[in-house]
Amino acid sequence: AERAVLATWSGPGRTADGRLVKLLANVADAASSVAASAEPVTGIGLFRTELCFLDRETEPTVEEQADIYASVLAPFAGEERHVVVRTLDAGSDKPIAFATHPDEENPALGVRGLRLAFADRGLLHRQLDAIAIAAERTGADCWVMAPMVATVAEARDFAADVRERGLKPGVMVEVPSAALLAHKILEEVDFLSIGTNDLTQYTMAADRMATDLAHLTDPWQPAVLQLVAIAAEAGRQAGKPVGVCGEAAADPLLACVLVGLGITSLSMASAAVRPVGARVSELTVGHCEEMADAALAAVDPATAREAARAVLL
Ligand code: PEP
Ligand code: MG
Repeated sequence: AERAVLATWSGPGRTADGRLVKLLANVADAASSVAASAEPVTGIGLFRTELCFLDRETEPTVEEQADIYASVLAPFAGEERHVVVRTLDAGSDKPIAFATHPDEENPALGVRGLRLAFADRGLLHRQLDAIAIAAERTGADCWVMAPMVATVAEARDFAADVRERGLKPGVMVEVPSAALLAHKILEEVDFLSIGTNDLTQYTMAADRMATDLAHLTDPWQPAVLQLVAIAAEAGRQAGKPVGVCGEAAADPLLACVLVGLGITSLSMASAAVRPVGARVSELTVGHCEEMADAALAAVDPATAREAARAVLL
């Protein structure tokens, strides 16, 4: 039966009882954006801009950046879809030659993501200028979010720079402090996007790259799900979107749990969109909430998975 649904499902993302769940794509460049536009998605939920510059020794000019960003926005131009551009997430597992802190004992806990932008304001401002030019040129509905936000003040500061350019500001929830303060952060920004890869790493104090810590870097960890629940509830109260753009959104079973927790959009690699959309379309919001309650009540990832799966049967 699962196969039959997968074969016939064609979007848009919604539960069996009709609640819309935006399905979005994670992209890295123009080619992946074009590929994503052939899938039943309502936009791009994460454009990882730093991946455009992994091989660059020096910072691209504003004009060069605008051309690259426009090529990614273009396939999603128009009012009914939107594109979430993430500002440079340099540092730690993604070193960028022109935006890397020279020497750190502990790069994952160091000057990375938005922290780097605050250390070099010009870098952030030039990127925001380029994004604004690309948005204007393509007519895309462009949202802009910052990675690695830990405080309300960071969110406020970033939001001011983004609004100044006529764009819609949001922040990623990747640090537990941001999840706990989601209600305050939502007073500053228009949306949140939970990066479950880093949120799991920082919640469990386990390096996401360490294969021998895979039992800890599992987004089914109930502590991670609790933080997701807190952020989603803050979004519900504020009436603002809270999505997930980490790998968790690409797991059809976990995606249903996320919907049950109140997440409003799921962003994932294009290949995952159909399996996730098909699975979500089979369940009511009530079923998803039952799965979420069961997973939250579990004491470990294996039990959480089993408990969520049991609701399907
Ligand atoms: C995340 O941390 O979950 C995320 C989406 O960002 P990245 O994987 O690029 O760090
Ligand atoms: Mg991240």
